[in-house]
Amino acid sequence: MGHNKYSGDLRAVTSYRAGAVEINIARHSGYCWGVDRAYEQTVATARIKEGPVFTFGPLIHNPQTIEKLKSDYGVDYISGPDELPDPKGSTVIIRTHGVPPGVAQEFIAKGAEVIDATCPYVRVTQNYAQLLHKQKYHVVIIGDPKHPEVISILAYAKGEGTVIQSLDDVDKIPHNKRRLGVVVQSTLILKKVNEIVNAMLAQAQEVRVFNTICYVTTERQEDAEHIAQQNDHVIVIGGKTSSNTKKLAIVAESFGAKAQLIESPEDIDFEKLKDAKRIGILAGASTPNWLIDQAKDTLIAHFSKVAAAV
Ligand code: SF4
Repeated sequence: MGHNKYSGDLRAVTSYRAGAVEINIARHSGYCWGVDRAYEQTVATARIKEGPVFTFGPLIHNPQTIEKLKSDYGVDYISGPDELPDPKGSTVIIRTHGVPPGVAQEFIAKGAEVIDATCPYVRVTQNYAQLLHKQKYHVVIIGDPKHPEVISILAYAKGEGTVIQSLDDVDKIPHNKRRLGVVVQSTLILKKVNEIVNAMLAQAQEVRVFNTICYVTTERQEDAEHIAQQNDHVIVIGGKTSSNTKKLAIVAESFGAKAQLIESPEDIDFEKLKDAKRIGILAGASTPNWLIDQAKDTLIAHFSKVAAAV
């Protein structure tokens, strides 16, 4: 059994002991509110609909969840309206990261029913981008230009904006644009955003910023700092394409812990853990709890065996 443990700054972790090794799971791990909502909406839809249910793009960035939706509930994903085998009677669920405006209409025009599982926080960012564009700001999105969330936000600014993800990119903003309206991908690190916004101030007359980093991201990055400071090794569980999972590993390493990013317990590199005394576990916002439990159980089984062999 694990127990809640309070350290100096009262941040709770759940701790387990296996042989000489302590395993500490961060308080904010696993599905965030937006992902949980989208998953439950999808499962409920699959249960009540007679016709086939699809998600538009993978619902979230976690391959195990996508596989489970397919094997347990028959929900597969498609990449566009033309991939719907039999649109009439089909239901399409829009993923948490959102889609450009008009996409839902394309599915409806084919005869499918659409359920929008876009996270409400992403929806707010899309609305800000739309508003800034209407108010004649040049929209700047700080984020990964290839990420579906960023693609959808840019589309709400009618595609007329600049996506930047580093200080060097600030130069990409057209120099004749004097009024900049800024929104941020939900999973970014605030410190980095601050640096980029500061650099923008040097080239514009007005910079209007909506801090659209999701509170879930902030909470988890604070946990990552704490876990990295309290443990010599950190295991980050999550999809390799999950933006917030990758950032957790970056934050943990920046605080001096050795970090491993794994998608499932089979990926754990025990060789790298052979001197570990305290192992912290972090998990991205799209990582299911059962996967965190499996990883914890695998670690406990391994270190208990090591202790028994001594
Ligand atoms: S991390 Fe935040 S924005 Fe992203 S799905 Fe979760 S609650 Fe929504």
